[in-house]
Amino acid sequence: MYIDPIINGIEISDIRKIHERLSAYKNVINMTIGEPDTDAPQEVKEAVAYHALNSPIKYSPVGGIPKLREKIANFYNEKFEGNYGKDNVLVTVGSTEGLSSTLKTILAEDDEVLIPTPAYVGYEPLVRVARAKTIFMNLEENNFVLTEKILEKYITNKTKLIILTYPNNPSGITLPEEEMAKIVKFLKGKEIYLLSDEIYASIAFEKFTSFAKYYDELKEQLIIVNGFSKSHSMTGYRLGYTIASENLQSQVKKISQYTVTSASTLSQYGAIAALDYCSDTTELSEIYKKRVHYFVKELEKLGFKCLKPKGAFYVFATYKTIEKFKNVKSFDFILDLLEKTELAIIPGITFQVEGYVRFSIVHDLPVLEEAIARLKKYIESK
Ligand code: PLP
Repeated sequence: MYIDPIINGIEISDIRKIHERLSAYKNVINMTIGEPDTDAPQEVKEAVAYHALNSPIKYSPVGGIPKLREKIANFYNEKFEGNYGKDNVLVTVGSTEGLSSTLKTILAEDDEVLIPTPAYVGYEPLVRVARAKTIFMNLEENNFVLTEKILEKYITNKTKLIILTYPNNPSGITLPEEEMAKIVKFLKGKEIYLLSDEIYASIAFEKFTSFAKYYDELKEQLIIVNGFSKSHSMTGYRLGYTIASENLQSQVKKISQYTVTSASTLSQYGAIAALDYCSDTTELSEIYKKRVHYFVKELEKLGFKCLKPKGAFYVFATYKTIEKFKNVKSFDFILDLLEKTELAIIPGITFQVEGYVRFSIVHDLPVLEEAIARLKKYIESK
């Protein structure tokens, strides 16, 4: 049967593919997948268990349980200077469904979507499904910092959406506040949406500024995407949310309804507990900060050069600074490293940047030390 080439061209992500190969290795250190090594908080588990036993678990209202939507709005207002009410919030099946339903709503054929690199792998396939086109903005020459000036160069009359991810996956970098302000000023009033994926906002190594701060300026143009997967180690609960103007949300809600009906009612009870009892993620951020700083320091001793993470749990590093690897493709680098040392990481090309690799720092210090030892040995053996 005929499959549209646009859909046929979508591949299972490299991250999943590499992750799935790992069962063939006995002693592998898995630094591939972006999944926290900690478990969901006890309070979340207890709330879910309690409701599973004591409440009828029925369809939730479309768009989410009102109490949860209200708590999410308050959380954003208190923590990230937002100015939102519950009708700005749509609860989704992970932030992934939030992204998907939003893109299906706002994009049309031939629209252009601008994404700076390194770029999270989940966006481009969703843009394709919406029959729109992704334009990656290569920022390597500007140390991966997006500026209003660079953005301006990529804007055409087809540009419909810009997707930004800070703290970034794969690099953990954030956008300097002065650039945020300039970008907001530049976009204000244009027929262009700004989608800010802030799934790592609660894992910040220093004060994080959300685009929510600019809601009153951007209004209908601004979409925030977030969720509980990373901040509360709730990946399997599949719970996320988007925050945007009521007008836009009333449209996205229809698409979400016909895609998923609603997010899991049980997981929403878990999310309410997460916000009631564990919205302060300072301790978790400190754990990741220590690990990430350690890893950056050790990688640089080996000759790598790293982007300096301000949040999340990744390190994005180039090996082009090590003469003998200068011309090696990142996929070849990671496959050979896996073969020789059983250290599994992700190639930069997965995120549209050649010559780099991503390490997921989702292990305790002793494992990180062992990873560095394996890398050292590998480099010396070449
Ligand atoms: N956005 C970014 C930047 C991510 O790194 C991820 C997961 O790795 C997601 C969205 C999707 O997260 P979820 O669907 O679990 O909320």
